Amino acid sequence: MRKLLRGKPVAEAIAAAARKRADILREGGVIPALAVVRVGDNPGDLAYERTILKHAEAAGVEVRTVSLDADVSQDVLSVVICQINEDPSVHGCLLMRPLPAQIDEAAVCELLDPRKDVDGITRASLASVFAGSGDGFAPSTTEACIRTLDFYNVPLDGQRAVVVGRSLVVGKPLSMLLLARNATVTMCHSHTGNLDTITRGADVVVCAVGKPHAFDQRFFSAGQTVLDVGINFDEDGKMCGDVHADSVEPVVAALSPVPGGIGSVTTAVTLDHVVTAAERLAR
Ligand code: NAP
Repeated sequence: MRKLLRGKPVAEAIAAAARKRADILREGGVIPALAVVRVGDNPGDLAYERTILKHAEAAGVEVRTVSLDADVSQDVLSVVICQINEDPSVHGCLLMRPLPAQIDEAAVCELLDPRKDVDGITRASLASVFAGSGDGFAPSTTEACIRTLDFYNVPLDGQRAVVVGRSLVVGKPLSMLLLARNATVTMCHSHTGNLDTITRGADVVVCAVGKPHAFDQRFFSAGQTVLDVGINFDEDGKMCGDVHADSVEPVVAALSPVPGGIGSVTTAVTLDHVVTAAERLAR
């Protein structure tokens, strides 16, 4: 393999550019601020919250955490979201999901003001991604994929891109972003036949299925760029992606690692979105 597509330099470049814009906002009295809303103490949510707190300063963003009990009611959570909508000193909201079973997640997501929807969870944000209008925020992970490909100068125009996974969080919106960059996009899922033949024929393959090491070298061919979006844990509790990196690295031209790949860029993109939201709201 010629290239490991590490997330750290991509994230640092995004944060440095966001910081410059945040500093300009501060000179005008606006401090870009993100509200992180967490329900319960899920270790994954806590880890994500720590990551956001660790990287916020580099992007010039202030973070306020709202931590709610795991048995919080729909009404209380709804009030929290509405307060964030109305608070002019908060420009973005990151709602940790999935939410507990007593909460109607879709209904809560829809309450969020799309202008503060920095992780693209509302229908309005997704509609803007699908329409290509550019006025809403794409889910951070999907934009992290595009930013990573751009950072490493991976061409997309006229290239064949295969996205494995069709969730509304990753697969579908990412396919739209790739299409907007003039890639010829094939979306695959659990009912796709001859998946390995399809992935082998692509220039760029994105794996986003959530199955540890599901993709070994049989799925890839020489010269390909592979993004591994999966965040899984193997039988030893170690974080791993959807791609079996040891098996695939000798075959492809470039691969994003897990950990240290797309996940690291995702946080930087969310913080960058907060700065953009603050700029838009200040107009
Ligand atoms: P999801 O909602 O469970 O969707 C998984 C998708 O993969 C579905 O479309 C499913 O097909 C498809 N799939 C499952 N097994 C498959 C197989 N063997 N062959 C082909 N397709 C298969 O998951 P998600 O929310 O999109 O997340 C996917 C992965 O990305 C997870 O590991 C998640 O943790 C990770 N993730 C990472 C980030 C990040 O920042 N890096 C952010 C979000 C998510 P069907 O539709 O047919 O069921």
